[in-house]
Amino acid sequence: MISHSIQNKKPPSAGLAAECLQSLRRRDFVAGAAFIDGRWIVSERRDVVVDPATGEEIADVSHCSAADMSLAITAAERSFPAWRELLPARRGAILRSWASLMLEHSEELAILVTSEQGKPLAEARHEIAYAAGFLEWFAAEGERAYGETIPSHKLGSLLQVRMQPIGVAAAITPWNFPVAMIARKAGAAVAAGCPIIVKPAPETPLSALAIARLAEEAGVPAGVFQVLVGNPVELSTPLLRDTRVRALSFTGSTQVGRLLLEEAADTVKKVSLELGGHAPFLIFEDVDLEKAVKGAMTAKFGTSGQDCLAANRIYVQRSIYGAFVEALAAAMAQLKVGHGLEPGTTIGPMTKLSVVEKCRMQIDDAVKKGARVLSTYPDADLGPNFVSPTLLSGVTEDMLIAREETFGPVAAVLPFDSEEEVIARANANEMGLAGYIYTDSLRRALRLSERIECGMVGINTASFTGPPIPFGGWKQSGLGREGSRHGMEEYMELKYVCFGDL
Ligand code: NAD
Repeated sequence: MISHSIQNKKPPSAGLAAECLQSLRRRDFVAGAAFIDGRWIVSERRDVVVDPATGEEIADVSHCSAADMSLAITAAERSFPAWRELLPARRGAILRSWASLMLEHSEELAILVTSEQGKPLAEARHEIAYAAGFLEWFAAEGERAYGETIPSHKLGSLLQVRMQPIGVAAAITPWNFPVAMIARKAGAAVAAGCPIIVKPAPETPLSALAIARLAEEAGVPAGVFQVLVGNPVELSTPLLRDTRVRALSFTGSTQVGRLLLEEAADTVKKVSLELGGHAPFLIFEDVDLEKAVKGAMTAKFGTSGQDCLAANRIYVQRSIYGAFVEALAAAMAQLKVGHGLEPGTTIGPMTKLSVVEKCRMQIDDAVKKGARVLSTYPDADLGPNFVSPTLLSGVTEDMLIAREETFGPVAAVLPFDSEEEVIARANANEMGLAGYIYTDSLRRALRLSERIECGMVGINTASFTGPPIPFGGWKQSGLGREGSRHGMEEYMELKYVCFGDL
């Protein structure tokens, strides 16, 4: 077992997030109201927001009801004709100023994200830049949402396909990227000409409300972007049942995604789902070990493991297995667990206790079935939301961790012998979001990238997302795509027009 430097073991700072938020409050950056129809609505009923590192209450926000949601749908519907009619370049200009405001207030937004979500501040800053990138991308993409002209099958006719905004859209967003997941959906919807209503995760409402403030400042008209916080079922029910809501975009667990898909069937909404992952990370013996370790660290420990792209099964060719495990343990010894607002922290708390419980259950199950804990962090007293970054060696496919998404800082390493065997094992999972292949052989990379069953593949890289790429999964990892030109399609309808008798 690798031992970690004990200087890392430090209780998370009580009051740190509250103190940072106090300074943001003075700058009027912490909104406690809901944003409906261009107005800030304060309700008597409040929902508390907690710093996951300390468990302290740091703010409270208006709790919206189903009736509030109906008002928001009406406002969105009302805003649609004028927003749709606006020239795409004009919509783009508003999106660009929204993006600029996000970047201008990057530090404030990052502090909010870290305070309520827990991730290290450096990662939160990165998330804000990533989020603003989507608004900029879609500002331009809106101007390129061309249709097509089809060579006619009949003399004297002209066949056109047009792309038109679908109507009111709804977004149900998660807590792991509380700004970026909203920007990725709202950027596409707003650029396409659709109003969008956001129901953020109850754990991270402050980030959502802060970006609503910036949308207002950027000139997004009333009703085009709205944020309502409250009970997930109470708020999603009107969204799902109302025929005026034409599209739903969801990011979260497969379990909830399945439920929403079923409920959206009644009104036949266009549904896009970005669900869980269980990424296989394949490392072949021909690869530079250092590069592979660096990639595995990024793919496993980014967002403290709470990322749908996280490497859930690290398959290592047997000849380099021992050396890899040793090198990974050494790299993990450099991780610093703590409060995300403390300088140098690389692993923050889990945002939800349910994630902690899942990690612990998977570790216990793996150990019971013969896995070895090769590295763990001495952080037992950091607080209930912390999970020690843990390295499990000798993991086998009968263990829970090899089948179910972990969503925490637990690295499961499995040996393999041949290419044929490992690709079959990699594909033997109902999730198909991302996959990673580390090899020096171009032919092997080509072969396996063709055969791996997932929506996104990183060859010798663990950082491949961004506005230009179609983000989304195969199998039970989801439906549809976000980002790229395909992201716009989720908020648009195709219309075929035939001009005859020309
Ligand atoms: P979740 O699916 O419960 O929450 C995601 C969003 O759905 C939140 O806004 C939540 O309020 C909302 N929601 C939850 N239940 C709902 C319901 N019945 N009707 C309507 N909306 C509902 O996810 P979770 O419990 O917070 O996390 C559980 C697991 O989900 C994680 O451990 C992880 O495996 C996965 N997850 C994946 C992503 C991702 O990026 N794909 C993000 C978050 C969670």
